[in-house]
Amino acid sequence: MEIISDIQELRGYIRNIKSSNRSLGFVPTMGALHDGHIELIRHSVRQNEITACSIFVNPTQFNSGSDLKNYPRETDSDLEKLDAANCDIVFMPAVEDMYEKHILLNLDFGYLEEIMEGKFRPGHFKGVGLVVAKLFNLVNPDRAYFGRKDLQQLVLIKTLTRELRFDIEIIAVDTVREKDGLAMSSRNQLLSMEDRENAHDLHESLVEARKKLKEGETIPDVKKYIKNHFKSMSKIDLEYFEIVDAYDLKNVDEISQGTNIALCVAGYLGKVRLIDNILLN
Ligand code: AMP
Repeated sequence: MEIISDIQELRGYIRNIKSSNRSLGFVPTMGALHDGHIELIRHSVRQNEITACSIFVNPTQFNSGSDLKNYPRETDSDLEKLDAANCDIVFMPAVEDMYEKHILLNLDFGYLEEIMEGKFRPGHFKGVGLVVAKLFNLVNPDRAYFGRKDLQQLVLIKTLTRELRFDIEIIAVDTVREKDGLAMSSRNQLLSMEDRENAHDLHESLVEARKKLKEGETIPDVKKYIKNHFKSMSKIDLEYFEIVDAYDLKNVDEISQGTNIALCVAGYLGKVRLIDNILLN
């Protein structure tokens, strides 16, 4: 496995892969890798001749300095896991190499920045969009792999790819979960033991809401039920619960055939912010 931090060196490797016509899969991450990330690597290894992964804790997508500072960093074990999963190239650039001192470029994703995650994390998606555009430009893969766990990020990346005409196939990978249903996340390790025991409620509430929808309860009634549940029964401090069209993330008021619906939730356990979503079908 090649570990590269220099951009020119990366360009050399990419040129070499392209000139030998080998297919290239790419998995962008912020490190502190768990089995969810590795599942993306496994998909890429199956579908491509070469797999590249990036580890870059992207400062422009953090809303607070303390969140950026506290974000877990575990380079040694990350590299071991990537090597074991047959990743070929790991790109780990320095912040100064990825960004100008004064950043002028500002991507605007319209309404996608104003709903759900965007509403509660202002500027987050501008940072995500900017870094993924930079990485796509440098790595120029045939396929790039993203987790459904971050559904809004996935929709945003598909928008970015379409609008900037990147010739990259975006592949969505299902959420990998712990035994109790909690979606794997690098942030889970920041939970206290007690909070970790209560965290399964995030996923369970989604499953319960989905069951109610399938039984014919209306969307407003299910939303009311979930909000009440979090207020009275749960240790999780609910930030939002939305029922949306999985394609464009616009709110839906009733279930119509042919629309793939996603149930999305975010909340705090102590200081740790967790998100999750499931599809209705
Ligand atoms: P991150 O390092 O958190 O920026 O995540 C890097 C990629 O891994 C993103 O595409 C995430 O959606 C994906 N990912 C994170 N957690 C999971 C999970 N539990 N299952 C599947 N993919 C995930």
